[in-house]
Amino acid sequence: MATLELDEATKLFQEDDDPVVAVDEISLDIEDSEFIVLVGPSGCGKSTTLRLIAGLETISSGTVAIDDAVINDEKPKDRNIAMVFQNYALYPQKTVSENMSFGLEMATDLSADEIKERVESTAEMLGIGDLLNRKPNALSGGQKQRVALGRAIVRDPKVFLMDEPLSNLDAKLRTKMRTEIQELQKELGVTTVYVTHDQTEAMTMGDRIVILKDGKLQQVGTPLECYYEPTNIFVAGFIGSPSMNFSTLVFSEGIGQSDDVHYSFSSEHAAEIRKESESERITLGIRPEDIELASGQGEHTVESTVNVIEPMGKETYVHFELDGEEMVAAIAGNLHFDAGDTIYLRFPEEKIHVFDSETGRTIF
Ligand code: ATP
Repeated sequence: MATLELDEATKLFQEDDDPVVAVDEISLDIEDSEFIVLVGPSGCGKSTTLRLIAGLETISSGTVAIDDAVINDEKPKDRNIAMVFQNYALYPQKTVSENMSFGLEMATDLSADEIKERVESTAEMLGIGDLLNRKPNALSGGQKQRVALGRAIVRDPKVFLMDEPLSNLDAKLRTKMRTEIQELQKELGVTTVYVTHDQTEAMTMGDRIVILKDGKLQQVGTPLECYYEPTNIFVAGFIGSPSMNFSTLVFSEGIGQSDDVHYSFSSEHAAEIRKESESERITLGIRPEDIELASGQGEHTVESTVNVIEPMGKETYVHFELDGEEMVAAIAGNLHFDAGDTIYLRFPEEKIHVFDSETGRTIF
């Protein structure tokens, strides 16, 4: 049981004369037993953040603390943290049982019998009880991943760190293991930080998600908070699949205007835009599932032509263009359109998001 705090944690890598700020003053309070997912595009600093917590990288400035005690100077083995890696990092010459017990033998004073019992009960829990005498090369990807998890669990650590642990598994197994890891984490109640670049994984697994870009924290919140109330354009575009559509408009006298869009805002929204926007350019965002099919021209409605139709079963993705930008609407049911057909699409005002185009900040 443990809390984990990062306070302005920063990591600079000195590459020749060119410093790379991999982690840029990240502050984060993780609660006891919480499942936190760090998510963001490649190179945003997820793994480095995890390695700072594990002690595998030295921190350039700021602090990492467990249960309010700063651990910046503690060696990885003294931090009581267990890490699960993407490539499993199993010893090929050791059996499953030896792989799982090795860390325990090195780091604890448990008796051989106690270690054996812990390994066996953990293996049972993970459904690999009958594989204990096999070597890793005789295991499937999913089984290897379970062994790697088992090795972390037997140590009974204060914190689990997981770095893209499912990325080497096929899609079906990945979905299954996602649920398993979540259930396991809830059962064990161990504070967990999980890294992924996959926003679906983040949305489905995290109690809260932490969205990073260029080493900087963009937003921390529950998956639904980040989905419904993104703090900026980056988060809005990163969370959700298919992604939110964006259209850049010039705002004047309550109207957002571009070549293809003429959007009249309510007086409350117009006042908010006037108050919050730092320039006259705003970005209107709408999620594909919030776009409605209209029968003709009307308020908050755009006209376009169908580029591509993707029937998904319960809904249809309609691809169209506005101002030269590709957009997609997810409309319920099976639609019978052809490429080139004219369509009218409504962007309901209660569903739209508006951002300052200069700063990317959310206005509403
Ligand atoms: P990915 O999803 O691709 O694994 P990531 O979000 O985990 O990416 P990091 O691996 O933390 O990103 O890297 C963050 C930044 O720090 C990148 O620009 C990377 O090139 C740089 N970086 C990471 N490790 C080192 C290192 N040892 N030396 C120099 N630069 C590094």
